[in-house]
Amino acid sequence: MLTTGPRGTRDILPEASGHWQYIEDSARKVCHTYGYSEIRTPIFEHTDLFLRGIGETTDIVEKEMYTFTDRGNRSVTLRPENTAAVVRSFLEHKLYAGPQPVKLFYLGPMFRYDRPQAGRYRQFHQFGIEAIGAVGPTIDAEVIALAVQFLRQLGLSDLTLYINSVGCPQCRPVYRTELQGFLTDKLSHLCGDCQSRFDRNPMRILDCKNSSCTVHTQGAPQIADCLCDECGSHFIRLKTLLTAAHIEFILNPRLVRGLDYYTKTAFEIQYAPLGAQSAVCGGGRYDGLIAECGGQATPGIGFAIGMERVLLALEKQGLLPKSTTDIDIFIAPLGEHAQATAFRLLCQLRQSGLAADMDFMNRSLKAQMKYANKIHATYVLVLGGNELEQQSAKLKQMETGEQIAIPLDDRCEEAFDNIAISHVFQNTLQEEA
Ligand code: ATP
Ligand code: MG
Repeated sequence: MLTTGPRGTRDILPEASGHWQYIEDSARKVCHTYGYSEIRTPIFEHTDLFLRGIGETTDIVEKEMYTFTDRGNRSVTLRPENTAAVVRSFLEHKLYAGPQPVKLFYLGPMFRYDRPQAGRYRQFHQFGIEAIGAVGPTIDAEVIALAVQFLRQLGLSDLTLYINSVGCPQCRPVYRTELQGFLTDKLSHLCGDCQSRFDRNPMRILDCKNSSCTVHTQGAPQIADCLCDECGSHFIRLKTLLTAAHIEFILNPRLVRGLDYYTKTAFEIQYAPLGAQSAVCGGGRYDGLIAECGGQATPGIGFAIGMERVLLALEKQGLLPKSTTDIDIFIAPLGEHAQATAFRLLCQLRQSGLAADMDFMNRSLKAQMKYANKIHATYVLVLGGNELEQQSAKLKQMETGEQIAIPLDDRCEEAFDNIAISHVFQNTLQEEA
């Protein structure tokens, strides 16, 4: 118990954290090019926010939330997603009073009591964006383009973008009634969840992964046939914008949410090679959400990308970058006296911005060289009795075996400076190559 983390949680160990930094940096870069700024909201919020902001008939609220009562007897919940929290923050800090649209992105952990398996965890991470304040389909196209660009820039190609329109509170009731009519005589074949969805949120039945439900909902009426003029023309314009931007999509009439505050555009990006957990991105418009949370009616749209699934996809395709050499100089002292000199040099090197390290384990020279190799040190500086006596140490370039004499007196700074310069120079060349 004490040496095992809770089920569905994972440690990100040093060998993997470079991969996380890589995808997080990519996310930040693409957001910068699209004009989205980072927002960081708390890990927990009042439970009521999620009841309102996600919807009491959703899987998340019905069975997946980590909810607890704190010592002040308040019900709080670890955030299962971040749109509701961003909207809460938007209202609390009156971001509606600034320039519109408000374009925000976030990166961070989310918590859901899901059934753990590959690509499904209880603490997982999302990269998401929210664009609040713009009503037209151009912003929908921008939000979709950002998600697609992020995934493509990482090198993923087998991506499929599915889109749909879920209408609005004006046209959806017509569809709801039609759908219920179609489902009435099929109810006994549906799973227990779907039977209880029939009255409360029938559109969610189309989204059920249970195979019997999928079979018995074949041929169900499609919302596209019920859209009002405004929703219909919004959807047509979105498709035109995506086509013009060479963003391929497939219409998926089963992509639904069915809550009043989700409106018009809904989309999902799948990466099929991931198998069962193939959805890497889910998003959509929520023109009713801000009013639902107590603000003035304000349109919004966003998405959330599951970062664990992105990493799994990159790993599958061999697209994760190799960890690069990270130590410039390793100092190998022999004996206590040499350790003191080594430590002084070490501090100096680090202050000049080089990544430097030394032996802390009193190892033999052979063992220190082996270690230096293991940590991919570019240079090793050996400091033994002879070197101290002659006030000159040998700096060995590990790859070529080439050795340079480094004076250990005042002039050593200059010698190291030259290395620093040549090192920076090398990096520049590598970047250019
Ligand atoms: P699923 O149907 O796979 O449960 P969802 O509809 O619950 O997905 P969203 O709420 O749309 O997912 O979240 C957006 C993205 O977050 C998903 O497409 C997925 O990549 C990721 N995600 C959701 N739940 C988990 C989880 N438990 N573990 C890892 N990633 C997750
Ligand atoms: Mg889920």
